[in-house]
Amino acid sequence: MINIPGDILEGGGQILRTSIALSAIINEPVRISNIRVKRAISGLRAQHLSAVKYVAALSNANIDGLKIGSKEISFIPNSIKGGSFNIDIGTAGSISLLLQALMPVTAFAANDVMLSIKGGTNNPRAPPIEYLQEVFLPTISKMGFKGLINLLRRGLYPKGGGLVKTEFKPLLQLKSIQITDFKSVDCIYGISYSSRLKSHIIERMAKSAKRVLIMNGYNDVKIDLESLKPSDRKCAFDRGCGIVLFAKLKSGAILGADSLGRIDKTAERVGEDAALCIINELKKKSPVDSHLADQIIMYMGLANGESRIKITNLSLHTLTNIEICERILGIKYAVKRGIDKTAEITCSGIAFRNKFK
Ligand code: ATP
Repeated sequence: MINIPGDILEGGGQILRTSIALSAIINEPVRISNIRVKRAISGLRAQHLSAVKYVAALSNANIDGLKIGSKEISFIPNSIKGGSFNIDIGTAGSISLLLQALMPVTAFAANDVMLSIKGGTNNPRAPPIEYLQEVFLPTISKMGFKGLINLLRRGLYPKGGGLVKTEFKPLLQLKSIQITDFKSVDCIYGISYSSRLKSHIIERMAKSAKRVLIMNGYNDVKIDLESLKPSDRKCAFDRGCGIVLFAKLKSGAILGADSLGRIDKTAERVGEDAALCIINELKKKSPVDSHLADQIIMYMGLANGESRIKITNLSLHTLTNIEICERILGIKYAVKRGIDKTAEITCSGIAFRNKFK
C-alpha cells in the first residue's frame, strides 16, 4: 500500500483527489493519512467524500474510513469498467472538483463513461465549469483525451442543484504535451452570467471588464451575456452572477480567469476583478495559467514521452501535485524557476497503458 501524508505542502483536498485518481489508474492501493488536518474544519468534507465515493464506484474500489470528518482513508481499487453514473453531490459542492478526480480515471476505463452530476457549477476556489470546457478539456484533448462536458443548469451557493452531463471515451495511452510558446494574444472572450437577477448586472460586469481590458491594450474582446430567469431551464435555484474570461494566444494556448458576484461587491468590481486577473496572468508571457498548471501535472506524469509547460505562477498547489505524482508514479519533475514566480516544468511520463482496453 502506498502511504500518502495528507498534510504535506498545500495539505488540502487536492492531495486526496490526485492520490485516489492515480491509485485507481495504476491499480495500486493507497492510504492517505492526516487528511486536511491544517484546515479549520479538518478531515473529509462532503465534496471530498463524494470524490472518493465516485472514483471508488468507477474503479470498483473498497474503501476504509469513508465518513465526514475522517482524517484517514484506505483506497483499494479494482477494475475500471465504465458505464453510466448518476451523481448528486447533495450540496453546492463543486462539480468541477469532482470531475478533477474522475476525468483521469475515465481515460483508463474499459468502456465509455457517461456522468450526470448535480452540484455547484460556479464556486469560489474551484474551476468554473466553463474553465473545464474552454481551458482544461481542450488542453488534455491535445494529449488524446476524448470527452464532452455539457452544462445544463447552473448550480450556485447555497442550494447547488446545477446539472452537468459528460461523456468520456477511454484511450490507450496519453500523449506528451509541450505548452511553452506564448507569442501574442489573439483575442479575449468569455461570458457574463446571472441567474434570477436584473439583466443590467451582466451588462455592467461585461462593460467594466471590457473597459479595463481595452485600457490595458486588449482591444479584441467579446463577452457573451447570459441573464437567466426562473423559467429558463439553465437557471440556477439561487440568485447569483459572475464572469469568466479566456485569453486565446496566437500559439493556440488558452488561459482563463474569473470572478464571482457577491452581495457586498458591485457588478463593476466583479467585471474589473476578472479582467485584472487575466491581465496579470498575461503579463507573465507564459502560456499555462496558474490553475491549469496544477491540474495538468498528473496527465504529464502518465503520458508517453517528455512533456514541458511554461507556467505563469508556481503555486503551492502545483508543487503539491508534483510531490504526490512523484511519490505514486516514481518519476521526477524538473522545475526551473523563472522570474516573478514563472516556471518551466518538464517530466518524462511513465507511458501508462490502459489495462482494461
Ligand atoms: P481544501 O482542502 O483547501 O478545502 P479543496 O478540495 O477545496 O481544498 P484545493 O485543494 O484548494 O481544493 O484545489 C482547488 C483546485 O481548484 C485546484 O486544482 C485549483 O487550481 C483549482 N481552482 C481554484 N480556483 C480556480 C479558478 N478560479 N479557476 C480554475 N481553477 C481553479
